[in-house]
Amino acid sequence: MRVLVKGAGVAGLTVAHEVGARGAEVAVFDPNPGFLAAASWLAGGMLAPWCERESADEAVLRQGQDAPDRWEAILPGEVRRNGTLVLAPARDQGELKRFAGRTTGYDWLDEQQIAILEPSLAGRFRQGLFFPREADLNPRRALTALHSKLTARGAIFGETSPNEQDFDHIVDCTGAARIGETGSLRGVRGEMLYLRSDEISLDRPVRLLHPRIPVYIVPRGDGLFMVGATMIETEFQGPVTARSLMELLNAAYALHPAFADAAVVETGAGIRPAFPDNFPRVERRGKLVSLNGLYRHGFLLAPAMAAKVADIVFNTGIAGGLTP
Ligand SMILES: Cc1cc2nc3c(=O)[nH]c(=O)nc-3n(C[C@H](O)[C@H](O)[C@H](O)COP(=O)(O)OP(=O)(O)OC[C@H]3O[C@@H](n4cnc5c(N)ncnc54)[C@H](O)[C@@H]3O)c2cc1C
Repeated sequence: MRVLVKGAGVAGLTVAHEVGARGAEVAVFDPNPGFLAAASWLAGGMLAPWCERESADEAVLRQGQDAPDRWEAILPGEVRRNGTLVLAPARDQGELKRFAGRTTGYDWLDEQQIAILEPSLAGRFRQGLFFPREADLNPRRALTALHSKLTARGAIFGETSPNEQDFDHIVDCTGAARIGETGSLRGVRGEMLYLRSDEISLDRPVRLLHPRIPVYIVPRGDGLFMVGATMIETEFQGPVTARSLMELLNAAYALHPAFADAAVVETGAGIRPAFPDNFPRVERRGKLVSLNGLYRHGFLLAPAMAAKVADIVFNTGIAGGLTP
């Protein structure tokens, strides 16, 4: 069986991996090489379904819980299983209680326990929530490694569209490019930045709650930190705005004042593709299958959704959203 995957973001690559693993001959077409047009390149890479449950439906938790195992099977050694730490500035302690009321799977930590977990934050926060079962991966390393693995397995990558007649199935994973073409798909802009600081060291993603702009900081090693992300209901693709930059930097500074001296090494903005219910969907029309709407859960849910796509391609599954 020959399968053409359109789009080489996290959706396309996990689909290519899954259908390839089940025996299909795979070609991947993306006119924008190097992941530069992919929202996936800008992601935090958090596999954090318990934290996401704060604003997401129970199905996201149910389908996302085994994401670290699924990624470990795809890319052994790429998953960091250090949990997530959730904190709030002293004036926003109410936010911590509110977050705890909307989530499960956490332990309350006091100041001393926070210091044991993250020595750089010693003495800065009186209380926190720790979600020990959560994990993360570095999206850029994961995408690059997945591309290499697929190439080594014989998948063909191209920047010009091959003849679709040559394929038994075409799987559209073009994300935000389908906005305006796929009914109710919309874009939710996410802005982020990378900071470099040798004065702070963190071992896991840290979320800092705020009534308006909750922010997270994901350590990438070697003094590099990803700070994200805004959630703006727009498909505007332009550079990060001054307002967003200030808010992200303020949050980093609130987590640790040493971030004031960090170097801003990169800023970026990506469009998360989302359906009205913020659930991803697999849809089928003849030999065309599409996976889209991964919203803020691309890394969390793509492996599970890729398995659904493969079930359809191999005729063992039905199209649909996240819920069975
Ligand atoms: C700042 C930010 C932080 C995020 N953090 C997280 C996180 O921590 N955890 C998490 O799970 N998710 C996170 N997300 C969400 C996640 O990044 C998205 O859900 C995911 O990237 C969507 O993947 P995708 O493959 O559908 O789209 P994309 O990654 O956008 O890939 C689509 C690809 O299709 C290609 N394409 C476009 N048109 C065509 C065409 N006509 N033919 C062929 N190819 C085409 C594009 O070039 C692109 O490479 C974050 C998103 C943002 C923006």
